[in-house]
Amino acid sequence: MQLRYRFRLYPTAGQQQALARAFGCARVVFNDGLRARQEAHAAGLPYIKDTDLQKQVVTAAKRTEERAWLGEVSSVVLVQALADLHTGYRNFFASVTGKRKGPKVAPPRFQSRKDNRQAIRLTRNGFTLRPNGRLYVAKVGEIPVRWSRSLPSDPSSVTVVKDAAGRYFASFVVQTDPSEVLPEVTPEVGIDLGLTHFAVLSDGRKVSSPKFLRRAERKLRMAQQDLSRKAKGSSNRKKAVARVARLHARVADARRDHHHKLSTAIIRDNQAVYVEDLAVKGLARTRLAKSVHDSGWAQFTAMLEYKAARYGRVFGKVDRWLPSSQTCHVCMVVDGPKPLNVRTWTCGACRTTHDRDVNAARIVLAAGRAERQNACGGTVSPSA
Ligand SMILES: [Zn+2]
Repeated sequence: MQLRYRFRLYPTAGQQQALARAFGCARVVFNDGLRARQEAHAAGLPYIKDTDLQKQVVTAAKRTEERAWLGEVSSVVLVQALADLHTGYRNFFASVTGKRKGPKVAPPRFQSRKDNRQAIRLTRNGFTLRPNGRLYVAKVGEIPVRWSRSLPSDPSSVTVVKDAAGRYFASFVVQTDPSEVLPEVTPEVGIDLGLTHFAVLSDGRKVSSPKFLRRAERKLRMAQQDLSRKAKGSSNRKKAVARVARLHARVADARRDHHHKLSTAIIRDNQAVYVEDLAVKGLARTRLAKSVHDSGWAQFTAMLEYKAARYGRVFGKVDRWLPSSQTCHVCMVVDGPKPLNVRTWTCGACRTTHDRDVNAARIVLAAGRAERQNACGGTVSPSA
């Protein structure tokens, strides 16, 4: 199992320049590769093979006058930028042919220097961790790192990122250690991700976003409104843009922190964790609710999934649509649709009164257990 570890980087002014050059070269190679494939496609020619594309837009390009500056950055950076393009294409093809589940994947798009996130990826031959605690990146130098925790083992690759707020991060990919598996416990839990609470658990716990996160989100909304009132091209607008980017980064940090704490606690206390597949759940929601919540939920469920793998727990996604807010978890009778303002309801069949969200979480738990038993050759089905 592979995990990601992220740390803040503090490159010097010179290193920032070298990184800017590397970001730029990676983007140019990615875009050149994308253009070559698009032109081949438009001309009715076959898909350019990965190795041929690399010869064309890296090896041969370096020898031309207009792309000679590609030689100023590590070739690992250029090769990995192309590898990202190949992955983008493969995901797109798998999505088109139905081999990949979940939402449709768009074909790769051209990258812009104005993109919020700039990144380069390096494999083992492009970086080293120095004994002085610095991260050596080829043709950039030894970059100071703030080690907020330790790496469990040698990383196999690193992505160096500059975000919209101008901060630098290193994201290491590390193989996990089997000795981290936790002793077995009995509880299992289903989770309903909702709008009124961030998460409701089948054991009855309701988790809201922490106050500091809600406050940061409110500040961000106000800053965005403020920005929309500034005249285009004015220096006040520039300042407002920077402020929005800063607040965005703060909200993202606070949210990630909250997700980490909650997912760690849930994985520690439960042997199995079940959630609804967001792609399926999303069909039932409005566009606005989706845009606000989906990225947060996706991040949270991804954490549950990798922590489950790391600590030896079961993680299950219930990937068929469940009428979880209409089905009674006691007798499994579908009781009919309930408008969102109905927070408690009484089952018409067995007369049990339910809290809407806790009942939904228990349905997710039942469905998750059933799917797992079916997968193991069992015969139980909750909606028989
Ligand atoms: Zn019932």
